[in-house]
Amino acid sequence: MKPRKVPLRKCVACQQMMPKKSLIRVVRSPEGVVSIDLTGKKSGRGAYLCGQESCFKLAHKNRALDRALKAPVGPEVYEQLAQDFLAVEEEFLASQDREEDLDE
Ligand SMILES: [Zn+2]
Repeated sequence: MKPRKVPLRKCVACQQMMPKKSLIRVVRSPEGVVSIDLTGKKSGRGAYLCGQESCFKLAHKNRALDRALKAPVGPEVYEQLAQDFLAVEEEFLASQDREEDLDE
């Protein structure tokens, strides 16, 4: 059994190291727009969050995203992210299932 090397990233809210695949990427574009990046391909400065609402709320509370993105994240951005987060959470979790299936 050869362990596969999985790229790890840290969730900015709970500080846990997790496989990159199981985290949601939040990116600040060069234009300064903060958005959720499900593809992992948007350019800009990225921060990672567990795909869980609890971690998003924690990041909101302790302003972890501001620190990780090195930019102030306004309340309206958090509001938008919260909505996007809920919208992508299902899709995100579904894609996790699909990838697990492919591994077997
Ligand atoms: Zn987390």
